Amino acid sequence: MHNDIAQILVSEQEIKEICVKLGKQLTKDYQNKNPLLVGLLKGCMPFMADLSRQIDLKFEMAYMSVSSYHGGIASSGDVKIKMDLDISIKGRDVLIVEDIVDTANTIVTIIELFKHRGAASVKMVTLLDKPDGRLREYQPEYVGREIPKAFVVGYGLDYNELYRNLPYVGVLKPEIYNQK
Ligand code: 5GP
Ligand code: MG
Ligand code: MG
Repeated sequence: MHNDIAQILVSEQEIKEICVKLGKQLTKDYQNKNPLLVGLLKGCMPFMADLSRQIDLKFEMAYMSVSSYHGGIASSGDVKIKMDLDISIKGRDVLIVEDIVDTANTIVTIIELFKHRGAASVKMVTLLDKPDGRLREYQPEYVGREIPKAFVVGYGLDYNELYRNLPYVGVLKPEIYNQK
């Protein structure tokens, strides 16, 4: 698996530092609130597990599964809900947890939906941001790290459902995409 990686972009150590830093900031900003963390599966999984343990507050966690990629390395643009939330978000301070923001199609669609459902506030925390990939104007409130416009895998991020278990974020060797 590690052999398929051309370059490590965000190391295990850096991810740890990002979680500590964002956790402190979120602990401060949501001090007197009762936030609901909403993770977008499957990519959010390792980040939500590590980040949530750095937030020193009592809060609930919920999950939703959306897709805009249908395999491969390019976003298809239309966002589908594959699994919806199991709780009401009416009146809640929602904090969406994402692995990465690229075109922002996914997050903008979800934010509109959550506002329509009556959330008191909707903000997002993302491990990675690719600002050069935007097709819609959007700036996440909490960003772990900005990265260049490259397709990355690891720490939740997949290529055809593989590599999510890499402990770091890296770029695949080009021959991996060209194999099929
Ligand atoms: P967006 O809607 O902002 O274009 O992308 C949202 C979703 O596409 C992310 O949550 C992630 O699941 C997927 N995605 C975007 N960029 C990458 C990438 O570089 N690598 C992988 N594996 N997934 C990505
Ligand atoms: Mg995602
Ligand atoms: Mg994916």
